[in-house]
Amino acid sequence: MIEKCMTLKADLRSFLDDEGNELALTEQAKTVFKFLTKIVTSVSQVNYSEQSFSPINEQPLIDVDLKCNTRADRLSCTGNIKAKNFTIDIIEWHCNICEAAGTISHWQGSLWDKHKPTLH
Ligand SMILES: [Zn+2]
Repeated sequence: MIEKCMTLKADLRSFLDDEGNELALTEQAKTVFKFLTKIVTSVSQVNYSEQSFSPINEQPLIDVDLKCNTRADRLSCTGNIKAKNFTIDIIEWHCNICEAAGTISHWQGSLWDKHKPTLH
């Protein structure tokens, strides 16, 4: 059965052990996990300072170098994934073609969080 409106609410912690390392995942979970961490890496790389975090609707939409069909096997959608910070700690992503979308929480401070405090 194919769900029409797919929203994947992912908590990065559910893929990790207490030390923040990747759990032994099933092939299917691994595929999803790779997809999610790629989004986290891309979004957290964008330079912003938390002090001047702009309103949510002004957050830039980021082109993640990721095809929609990489989030699971046997998908044929060739859409590209766009993502942005929905709130400061939740990343929202969606496909630019189909209705696939989701959120990622608890990614901050993970191995894939590329957001480094700016040192001046
Ligand atoms: Zn798609």
